[in-house]
Amino acid sequence: MNVEFPILNYTLINEFKNCPFKAYHTKIAKTIPTVQSPEMMHGNRVHEAMEQRVAKEVKLPEDLHYMEPFAQALEEYQPLCEVKMGVDANGKPVGWTGRGVWFRGRVDVLIARMDTRVAAIYDYKTGKKREGYGQELELYTSAFLAKACYPHLTQVHARFLWTKQLFDVMGKEYIITDFEMVHITIADYAVKIRTCFDSGVWPKTPNKLCDYCPVKACEHNTNTQAVPQLPAAE
Ligand code: SF4
Repeated sequence: MNVEFPILNYTLINEFKNCPFKAYHTKIAKTIPTVQSPEMMHGNRVHEAMEQRVAKEVKLPEDLHYMEPFAQALEEYQPLCEVKMGVDANGKPVGWTGRGVWFRGRVDVLIARMDTRVAAIYDYKTGKKREGYGQELELYTSAFLAKACYPHLTQVHARFLWTKQLFDVMGKEYIITDFEMVHITIADYAVKIRTCFDSGVWPKTPNKLCDYCPVKACEHNTNTQAVPQLPAAE
């Protein structure tokens, strides 16, 4: 099988951090097709609905109407929604599919102006609220991309919006100014992924998510059922 070295993104890096073997099968060689879980479908629906609402003033569906105050607050700043950004290894913007694209990401909401050096980034999270588990790297990489594409920015305020929480939507605010450090962090992961890619050795890292891992051909995955078992007939 001819496998190409991937364009990096936050999800791939996160998967690699969790388990290189899993990252190889799910994100690089893609030997396991991505199955859209109900949670993923809900996440896509929320992203789409908020983009339509904030950028195009399309009414939110009934069940997401509690997000309306946030949509109104965001639209006041005329944000860019679902912004696709890509950079080369030097951190120069090259577009999503441009020549030499090395790292890329989609930013859910970017509030930036040409006459101010401070920008804001919001990232919708549709699962249960949990912060401080390293997922803030996603916000840091989004801020890095924003700085690369809009070099006049010197500070990015970034936070998650936890859309499942009715009254506790806003996540912790991260004020990001050291974009070079983010670039170095991504480059470190790029070297690690390249080392595995060139050697063909992708270490297995057993962890508490093994039983939810789609890589069934791994001895650490004890959940080998293709579908959950139903209760026996009475
Ligand atoms: S079951 Fe665990 S060790 Fe095996 S590939 Fe999945 S995450 Fe990695």
